[in-house]
Amino acid sequence: MTVKSATTYADFRTLALGVLALLAGLRSLLVLVIPLDPAPLNWIMLVSAAALLALFAVTVLRRQISEPAGLAGLWLALGGAVVGGVGFAPDQLGDVSCFTIVSLVVVAVAVLKVAAAVTTTVVGLVAGAACLGLRSEAPVQTAVVFVGMVITTSVVVGMLRSFLATERDHALGLALTDALTGTVNRRGMVDRVPALSDLADRTGQQLGCLVLDIDCFKAINDRYGHPYGDRVLVEVATAIGAVSRRSDVLVRLGGEEFALFVVVPGADELRMLAEQVRVAVAHQVAPPHPPVTVSVGGSLGSGGTDEAVAELVAAADAAMYQAKQAGRDRVVIPA
Ligand code: GH3
Ligand code: MG
Ligand code: MG
Repeated sequence: MTVKSATTYADFRTLALGVLALLAGLRSLLVLVIPLDPAPLNWIMLVSAAALLALFAVTVLRRQISEPAGLAGLWLALGGAVVGGVGFAPDQLGDVSCFTIVSLVVVAVAVLKVAAAVTTTVVGLVAGAACLGLRSEAPVQTAVVFVGMVITTSVVVGMLRSFLATERDHALGLALTDALTGTVNRRGMVDRVPALSDLADRTGQQLGCLVLDIDCFKAINDRYGHPYGDRVLVEVATAIGAVSRRSDVLVRLGGEEFALFVVVPGADELRMLAEQVRVAVAHQVAPPHPPVTVSVGGSLGSGGTDEAVAELVAAADAAMYQAKQAGRDRVVIPA
Protein backbone atom coordinates (compact mmCIF):
# COMPACT_ATOMS: atom_id res chain seq x y z
CA MET A 1 0.00 0.00 0.00
CA THR A 2 1.32 3.44 -0.86
CA VAL A 3 0.43 6.35 1.33
CA LYS A 4 -2.49 8.24 -0.15
CA SER A 5 -1.18 11.80 -0.01
CA ALA A 6 2.10 10.83 -1.73
CA THR A 7 0.08 9.36 -4.60
CA THR A 8 -1.98 12.51 -4.85
CA TYR A 9 1.18 14.65 -5.02
CA ALA A 10 2.58 12.52 -7.87
CA ASP A 11 -0.76 12.84 -9.67
CA PHE A 12 -0.57 16.60 -9.28
CA ARG A 13 2.90 16.68 -10.83
CA THR A 14 1.74 14.58 -13.76
CA LEU A 15 -1.38 16.65 -14.29
CA ALA A 16 0.43 20.00 -14.05
CA LEU A 17 3.01 18.97 -16.63
CA GLY A 18 0.35 17.46 -18.89
CA VAL A 19 -1.75 20.63 -18.79
CA LEU A 20 1.30 22.72 -19.60
CA ALA A 21 2.18 20.50 -22.54
CA LEU A 22 -1.40 20.65 -23.76
CA LEU A 23 -1.56 24.45 -23.55
CA ALA A 24 1.78 24.92 -25.25
CA GLY A 25 0.91 22.36 -27.92
CA LEU A 26 -2.47 23.96 -28.63
CA ARG A 27 -0.84 27.37 -28.79
CA SER A 28 1.59 26.08 -31.40
CA LEU A 29 -1.31 24.64 -33.40
CA LEU A 30 -3.13 27.94 -33.17
CA VAL A 31 -0.11 29.68 -34.69
CA LEU A 32 -0.14 27.14 -37.50
CA VAL A 33 -3.73 27.71 -38.56
CA ILE A 34 -3.02 31.40 -39.08
CA PRO A 35 -1.16 31.68 -42.44
CA LEU A 36 2.35 32.94 -41.82
CA ASP A 37 5.66 33.09 -43.68
CA PRO A 38 8.25 31.78 -44.02
CA ALA A 39 7.09 28.18 -44.48
CA PRO A 40 10.03 26.38 -42.74
CA LEU A 41 8.99 27.96 -39.44
CA ASN A 42 5.57 26.38 -39.85
CA TRP A 43 7.25 23.00 -39.97
CA ILE A 44 9.16 23.74 -36.81
CA MET A 45 5.91 24.72 -35.13
CA LEU A 46 4.20 21.57 -36.39
CA VAL A 47 6.91 19.35 -34.94
CA SER A 48 6.89 21.30 -31.72
CA ALA A 49 3.08 21.03 -31.43
CA ALA A 50 3.12 17.30 -32.18
CA ALA A 51 5.83 16.69 -29.58
CA LEU A 52 3.98 18.66 -26.92
CA LEU A 53 0.65 16.96 -27.59
CA ALA A 54 2.39 13.57 -27.48
CA LEU A 55 3.91 14.56 -24.16
CA PHE A 56 0.44 15.47 -22.90
CA ALA A 57 -0.84 12.05 -23.94
CA VAL A 58 2.08 10.26 -22.27
CA THR A 59 1.92 12.17 -18.99
CA VAL A 60 -1.81 12.45 -18.42
CA LEU A 61 -3.19 9.38 -20.18
CA ARG A 62 -0.53 7.01 -18.81
CA ARG A 63 -0.65 8.88 -15.51
CA GLN A 64 3.04 8.57 -14.84
CA ILE A 65 5.97 10.88 -14.99
CA SER A 66 9.57 10.63 -13.90
CA GLU A 67 11.84 13.56 -13.26
CA PRO A 68 13.79 13.23 -16.57
CA ALA A 69 10.53 13.01 -18.53
CA GLY A 70 9.28 16.10 -16.72
CA LEU A 71 12.41 17.99 -17.57
CA ALA A 72 12.32 16.88 -21.18
CA GLY A 73 8.73 18.08 -21.40
CA LEU A 74 9.52 21.45 -19.99
CA TRP A 75 12.46 21.91 -22.34
CA LEU A 76 10.23 20.95 -25.25
CA ALA A 77 7.63 23.46 -24.13
CA LEU A 78 10.32 26.08 -23.76
CA GLY A 79 11.60 25.27 -27.25
CA GLY A 80 8.08 25.63 -28.66
CA ALA A 81 7.56 28.94 -26.89
CA VAL A 82 10.84 30.40 -28.07
CA VAL A 83 10.36 29.23 -31.65
CA GLY A 84 6.96 30.91 -31.60
CA GLY A 85 8.16 34.07 -29.90
CA VAL A 86 11.24 34.76 -31.97
CA GLY A 87 10.04 33.22 -35.22
CA PHE A 88 6.80 35.16 -35.48
CA ALA A 89 7.86 38.51 -34.13
CA PRO A 90 6.79 41.26 -34.30
CA ASP A 91 3.08 40.41 -34.17
CA GLN A 92 1.26 39.77 -30.94
CA LEU A 93 1.72 36.00 -31.17
CA GLY A 94 5.21 36.57 -29.83
CA ASP A 95 3.65 37.92 -26.64
CA VAL A 96 1.59 34.74 -26.35
CA SER A 97 4.86 32.78 -26.53
CA CYS A 98 6.20 34.75 -23.62
CA PHE A 99 3.10 34.00 -21.61
CA THR A 100 3.70 30.33 -22.39
CA ILE A 101 7.13 30.81 -20.85
CA VAL A 102 5.53 32.28 -17.73
CA SER A 103 3.26 29.26 -17.32
CA LEU A 104 6.22 26.98 -18.04
CA VAL A 105 8.29 28.56 -15.29
CA VAL A 106 5.39 28.48 -12.83
CA VAL A 107 4.81 24.78 -13.48
CA ALA A 108 8.55 24.10 -13.18
CA VAL A 109 8.66 25.83 -9.79
CA ALA A 110 5.57 23.91 -8.69
CA VAL A 111 6.50 20.38 -9.76
CA LEU A 112 10.20 19.88 -10.46
CA LYS A 113 13.08 19.28 -8.09
CA VAL A 114 14.77 22.50 -6.98
CA ALA A 115 17.79 22.31 -9.33
CA ALA A 116 15.64 21.55 -12.40
CA ALA A 117 13.15 24.28 -11.44
CA VAL A 118 15.94 26.87 -11.07
CA THR A 119 17.50 25.91 -14.43
CA THR A 120 14.15 26.09 -16.21
CA THR A 121 13.38 29.44 -14.57
CA VAL A 122 16.73 30.96 -15.60
CA VAL A 123 16.45 29.73 -19.19
CA GLY A 124 12.80 30.85 -19.36
CA LEU A 125 13.73 34.30 -18.04
CA VAL A 126 16.54 34.80 -20.56
CA ALA A 127 14.49 33.45 -23.48
CA GLY A 128 11.37 35.44 -22.59
CA ALA A 129 13.20 38.70 -21.85
CA ALA A 130 15.15 38.40 -25.13
CA CYS A 131 12.02 37.47 -27.06
CA LEU A 132 10.02 40.46 -25.75
CA GLY A 133 12.95 42.88 -25.56
CA LEU A 134 14.03 42.33 -29.16
CA ARG A 135 10.62 43.32 -30.49
CA SER A 136 9.95 46.22 -28.18
CA GLU A 137 10.61 49.90 -28.63
CA ALA A 138 11.65 50.04 -24.99
CA PRO A 139 13.59 46.77 -24.73
CA VAL A 140 15.12 47.25 -21.29
CA GLN A 141 11.88 48.28 -19.62
CA THR A 142 9.94 45.45 -21.30
CA ALA A 143 12.53 42.88 -20.28
CA VAL A 144 12.57 44.19 -16.69
CA VAL A 145 8.77 44.02 -16.45
CA PHE A 146 8.79 40.46 -17.82
CA VAL A 147 11.54 39.30 -15.44
CA GLY A 148 9.77 40.96 -12.50
CA MET A 149 6.49 39.28 -13.40
CA VAL A 150 8.06 35.83 -13.69
CA ILE A 151 10.12 36.15 -10.51
CA THR A 152 7.18 37.44 -8.45
CA THR A 153 4.92 34.62 -9.64
CA SER A 154 7.67 32.03 -9.09
CA VAL A 155 8.39 33.25 -5.56
CA VAL A 156 4.69 33.04 -4.62
CA VAL A 157 4.30 29.58 -6.17
CA GLY A 158 7.57 28.45 -4.56
CA MET A 159 6.39 29.65 -1.13
CA LEU A 160 3.07 27.86 -1.60
CA ARG A 161 4.88 24.69 -2.63
CA SER A 162 7.18 24.81 0.37
CA PHE A 163 4.24 25.47 2.72
CA LEU A 164 2.25 22.58 1.26
CA ALA A 165 5.27 20.25 1.43
CA THR A 166 5.81 21.10 5.11
CA GLU A 167 2.14 20.55 5.90
CA ARG A 168 2.11 17.30 3.94
CA ASP A 169 5.22 15.98 5.71
CA HIS A 170 3.74 16.93 9.08
CA ALA A 171 0.41 15.26 8.34
CA LEU A 172 2.16 12.20 6.92
CA GLY A 173 4.36 11.99 10.02
CA LEU A 174 1.29 12.10 12.29
CA ALA A 175 -0.53 9.51 10.20
CA LEU A 176 2.38 7.07 10.42
CA THR A 177 3.27 7.56 14.09
CA ASP A 178 1.83 6.09 17.27
CA ALA A 179 0.74 9.06 19.39
CA LEU A 180 1.67 7.54 22.77
CA THR A 181 5.10 6.03 22.16
CA GLY A 182 6.28 7.97 19.10
CA THR A 183 7.07 4.70 17.32
CA VAL A 184 5.82 3.84 13.85
CA ASN A 185 2.23 2.54 13.71
CA ARG A 186 0.86 -0.23 11.47
CA ARG A 187 0.35 2.16 8.57
CA GLY A 188 3.93 3.35 8.98
CA MET A 189 5.11 -0.26 9.04
CA VAL A 190 3.60 -0.90 5.62
CA ASP A 191 5.22 2.31 4.40
CA ARG A 192 8.72 1.75 5.83
CA VAL A 193 9.43 -1.99 5.84
CA PRO A 194 9.67 -2.55 2.05
CA ALA A 195 12.63 -0.11 1.92
CA LEU A 196 14.32 -2.07 4.70
CA SER A 197 13.68 -5.28 2.77
CA ASP A 198 15.38 -3.70 -0.28
CA LEU A 199 18.34 -2.77 1.91
CA ALA A 200 18.60 -6.40 3.04
CA ASP A 201 18.54 -7.62 -0.58
CA ARG A 202 21.12 -5.05 -1.69
CA THR A 203 23.53 -5.94 1.10
CA GLY A 204 23.07 -9.71 0.77
CA GLN A 205 21.50 -9.96 4.24
CA GLN A 206 18.08 -10.91 5.56
CA LEU A 207 15.09 -9.01 6.90
CA GLY A 208 14.38 -10.00 10.50
CA CYS A 209 11.24 -9.33 12.50
CA LEU A 210 10.95 -9.47 16.29
CA VAL A 211 7.51 -9.38 17.90
CA LEU A 212 7.65 -8.27 21.54
CA ASP A 213 4.70 -8.52 23.92
CA ILE A 214 4.85 -7.10 27.45
CA ASP A 215 4.29 -9.84 30.02
CA CYS A 216 1.27 -9.65 32.33
CA PHE A 217 0.62 -6.06 31.31
CA LYS A 218 -2.99 -6.22 32.40
CA ALA A 219 -1.79 -6.92 35.94
CA ILE A 220 0.48 -3.82 35.78
CA ASN A 221 -2.49 -1.69 34.72
CA ASP A 222 -4.70 -3.22 37.39
CA ARG A 223 -2.14 -2.71 40.14
CA TYR A 224 -0.66 0.71 39.31
CA GLY A 225 -3.33 2.28 37.12
CA HIS A 226 -3.74 2.96 33.42
CA PRO A 227 -1.59 6.16 33.33
CA TYR A 228 1.29 4.19 34.85
CA GLY A 229 0.69 1.50 32.19
CA ASP A 230 1.00 4.20 29.55
CA ARG A 231 4.35 5.28 31.00
CA VAL A 232 5.54 1.68 30.92
CA LEU A 233 4.64 1.48 27.23
CA VAL A 234 6.73 4.59 26.56
CA GLU A 235 9.65 3.24 28.60
CA VAL A 236 9.56 -0.11 26.84
CA ALA A 237 9.61 1.64 23.46
CA THR A 238 12.54 3.78 24.67
CA ALA A 239 14.45 0.70 25.86
CA ILE A 240 13.96 -1.09 22.54
CA GLY A 241 14.93 2.07 20.63
CA ALA A 242 18.11 2.40 22.71
CA VAL A 243 19.50 -0.94 21.55
CA SER A 244 18.35 -0.71 17.94
CA ARG A 245 20.09 0.93 15.01
CA ARG A 246 19.01 4.05 13.12
CA SER A 247 17.83 1.99 10.15
CA ASP A 248 15.69 -0.39 12.25
CA VAL A 249 11.92 0.13 12.21
CA LEU A 250 10.15 -0.07 15.57
CA VAL A 251 6.39 -0.48 15.29
CA ARG A 252 3.65 -0.47 17.90
CA LEU A 253 1.42 -3.20 16.54
CA GLY A 254 -1.28 -2.32 19.06
CA GLY A 255 -1.90 -2.53 22.83
CA GLU A 256 1.29 -3.76 24.52
CA GLU A 257 2.74 -5.41 21.43
CA PHE A 258 5.67 -4.10 19.39
CA ALA A 259 7.53 -5.29 16.29
CA LEU A 260 11.15 -4.48 15.49
CA PHE A 261 12.29 -4.89 11.86
CA VAL A 262 16.02 -5.23 11.32
CA VAL A 263 18.53 -6.18 8.64
CA VAL A 264 20.75 -9.02 9.86
CA PRO A 265 23.14 -11.58 8.35
CA GLY A 266 21.16 -14.53 9.78
CA ALA A 267 19.23 -16.20 12.61
CA ASP A 268 22.14 -16.13 15.11
CA GLU A 269 22.48 -12.37 14.90
CA LEU A 270 18.70 -11.94 15.16
CA ARG A 271 18.68 -14.12 18.28
CA MET A 272 21.51 -12.07 19.81
CA LEU A 273 19.69 -8.81 19.13
CA ALA A 274 16.44 -10.21 20.55
CA GLU A 275 18.25 -11.19 23.76
CA GLN A 276 19.76 -7.67 23.99
CA VAL A 277 16.32 -6.14 23.63
CA ARG A 278 14.82 -8.45 26.25
CA VAL A 279 17.55 -7.57 28.78
CA ALA A 280 17.31 -3.84 27.99
CA VAL A 281 13.57 -3.84 28.69
CA ALA A 282 14.01 -5.74 31.94
CA HIS A 283 16.43 -3.05 33.15
CA GLN A 284 14.37 -0.10 32.01
CA VAL A 285 11.64 0.29 34.64
CA ALA A 286 13.11 1.70 37.85
CA PRO A 287 12.36 0.38 41.37
CA PRO A 288 10.21 0.40 43.50
CA HIS A 289 8.09 -1.15 40.74
CA PRO A 290 8.88 -4.71 39.76
CA PRO A 291 10.74 -5.13 36.44
CA VAL A 292 8.68 -5.19 33.28
CA THR A 293 9.54 -8.08 30.99
CA VAL A 294 8.77 -8.99 27.41
CA SER A 295 8.34 -12.24 25.52
CA VAL A 296 10.03 -12.12 22.13
CA GLY A 297 9.44 -14.14 18.98
CA GLY A 298 11.45 -13.77 15.78
CA SER A 299 11.29 -14.63 12.09
CA LEU A 300 13.36 -14.08 8.98
CA GLY A 301 12.11 -13.56 5.43
CA SER A 302 11.12 -11.00 2.87
CA GLY A 303 9.18 -7.78 3.40
CA GLY A 304 8.83 -6.55 -0.16
CA THR A 305 5.03 -6.64 -0.26
CA ASP A 306 2.19 -6.08 2.19
CA GLU A 307 1.50 -9.83 2.21
CA ALA A 308 5.15 -10.69 2.87
CA VAL A 309 5.26 -8.24 5.80
CA ALA A 310 2.05 -9.74 7.21
CA GLU A 311 3.51 -13.27 6.92
CA LEU A 312 6.73 -12.21 8.59
CA VAL A 313 4.83 -10.66 11.51
CA ALA A 314 2.53 -13.70 11.79
CA ALA A 315 5.54 -16.06 11.99
CA ALA A 316 7.23 -13.90 14.66
CA ASP A 317 3.92 -13.64 16.53
CA ALA A 318 3.58 -17.44 16.58
CA ALA A 319 7.13 -17.71 17.97
CA MET A 320 6.30 -15.06 20.59
CA TYR A 321 3.28 -17.12 21.63
CA GLN A 322 5.61 -20.11 22.15
CA ALA A 323 7.79 -17.89 24.39
CA LYS A 324 4.69 -17.03 26.45
CA GLN A 325 3.79 -20.69 26.80
CA ALA A 326 7.33 -21.59 27.80
CA GLY A 327 7.09 -19.22 30.81
CA ARG A 328 7.45 -15.61 29.42
CA ASP A 329 10.48 -13.27 29.63
CA ARG A 330 12.35 -15.20 26.94
CA VAL A 331 13.23 -15.32 23.25
CA VAL A 332 12.03 -17.94 20.75
CA ILE A 333 13.35 -17.87 17.18
CA PRO A 334 12.73 -21.16 15.35
CA ALA A 335 15.78 -22.42 13.47
P1 GH3 B 1 0.42 -11.80 28.52
O1 GH3 B 1 1.64 -11.92 29.36
O2 GH3 B 1 -0.18 -13.10 28.21
O3 GH3 B 1 0.67 -10.99 27.31
O4 GH3 B 1 -0.66 -11.01 29.41
P2 GH3 B 1 -1.10 -9.52 29.29
O5 GH3 B 1 -1.78 -9.13 30.54
O6 GH3 B 1 0.07 -8.68 28.92
O7 GH3 B 1 -2.07 -9.56 28.05
P3 GH3 B 1 -3.58 -9.18 27.91
O8 GH3 B 1 -3.86 -9.28 26.43
O9 GH3 B 1 -4.43 -10.01 28.82
O10 GH3 B 1 -3.69 -7.70 28.37
C1 GH3 B 1 -3.19 -6.63 27.63
C2 GH3 B 1 -3.58 -5.35 28.35
O11 GH3 B 1 -3.01 -4.21 27.69
C3 GH3 B 1 -5.07 -5.13 28.34
C4 GH3 B 1 -5.25 -3.68 27.95
O12 GH3 B 1 -6.07 -2.98 28.84
C5 GH3 B 1 -3.85 -3.11 28.03
N1 GH3 B 1 -3.63 -2.04 27.10
C6 GH3 B 1 -3.79 -2.05 25.74
N2 GH3 B 1 -3.46 -0.86 25.24
C7 GH3 B 1 -3.11 -0.05 26.29
C8 GH3 B 1 -2.68 1.31 26.38
O13 GH3 B 1 -2.56 2.04 25.40
N3 GH3 B 1 -2.37 1.78 27.62
C9 GH3 B 1 -2.48 1.01 28.74
N4 GH3 B 1 -2.17 1.53 29.92
N5 GH3 B 1 -2.91 -0.27 28.66
C10 GH3 B 1 -3.21 -0.79 27.45
MG1 MG C 1 1.04 -9.02 27.06
MG1 MG D 1 -0.72 -8.87 23.78
